[in-house]
Amino acid sequence: MHTFAYARPATLAEAVAILAEHGPAARVLAGGTDLIIRLRDGTLAPDVVVDLKRIAAMRPGVREEAGTVAIAATTVMTDVAADPLVRRHFPALAEAAGVVGSVQIRNRATLGGNICNASPAADTAPPLLVYGATVVAVGPAGTRRIPLDDFFVRSGVTTLARGEIVTAVELPVQGRRMGAAHERRTRRRGHDLASVTLCCGVREDGTTRLSYGSVGPRPVLRVDETGTLADPAASAEARAAVFEAMFAEASPSPRSMRASPPYRLAMLRVLGRRALARALARLQAAEE
Ligand SMILES: Cc1cc2nc3c(=O)[nH]c(=O)nc-3n(C[C@H](O)[C@H](O)[C@H](O)COP(=O)(O)OP(=O)(O)OC[C@H]3O[C@@H](n4cnc5c(N)ncnc54)[C@H](O)[C@@H]3O)c2cc1C
Repeated sequence: MHTFAYARPATLAEAVAILAEHGPAARVLAGGTDLIIRLRDGTLAPDVVVDLKRIAAMRPGVREEAGTVAIAATTVMTDVAADPLVRRHFPALAEAAGVVGSVQIRNRATLGGNICNASPAADTAPPLLVYGATVVAVGPAGTRRIPLDDFFVRSGVTTLARGEIVTAVELPVQGRRMGAAHERRTRRRGHDLASVTLCCGVREDGTTRLSYGSVGPRPVLRVDETGTLADPAASAEARAAVFEAMFAEASPSPRSMRASPPYRLAMLRVLGRRALARALARLQAAEE
């Protein structure tokens, strides 16, 4: 493994200063489930690795304040999946966090790491996009709030600026106004990245938000405002036409070892229909 310096700062300001000084030659270490693999295989060779775990301001946890639930970036998947606030307000996010990797991975893998790694297959990205998440980043210029849809660029690349650290993900509380569900397809059970990962959320005003990943360079968010997908009386043909328009941006890589493009595109449609059915059922249950 390439030799690098290891920094374990006690404050956010110190961590930001190290990252700002070294730029791309510095890497944040959260749970390490993505980073350590890339250090081992040599696809990343930073001069310094900045461990966030000693920073009091980066303590994990979930809290609700003024209609917003803030999930600290360092919160691990096990805790996201089990958190009562997440389960009540954002059940599709709890579902997605609960299927990341294995128990061991979920005990280390953080929510912040999942989005900062910016894999198109990141399982928490579709529900976060459907629920309208905002990324909170702290850097040399202060605090910035970035809508998650403006955060992803392509695999491994985000709009984070030099020196910025993600401290939290904020979600507006939906109350009973949305039913949402997460679905994914993997090559096998156990820990494997998704061949397709998808979330569908239906609002009681008839708007449907659909987000999908692992079928292109970044997760995609599409919104149907026609009310067709949310309408239980809509025909299968009408729904299929709306889905087709929403899936138009799917462009799976033919070079992936996980699944062929035709298979991924077929599964996208299957999972879309499944997630929609579960989202509608959840919305209905919440309204009763
Ligand atoms: C066996 C295995 C199975 C897996 N299965 C899945 C799966 O099913 N679904 C899935 O989505 N992922 C999966 N992963 C990927 C990984 O576990 C997740 O992406 C995880 O959430 C990453 O979080 P981490 O805390 O470990 O990140 P790290 O490895 O610590 O960091 C990942 C990247 O994000 C940066 N980073 C981390 N935190 C911050 C921050 N707060 N601010 C700025 N930059 C930051 C790091 O510098 C690094 O570039 C799997 C990984 C393994 C090894």
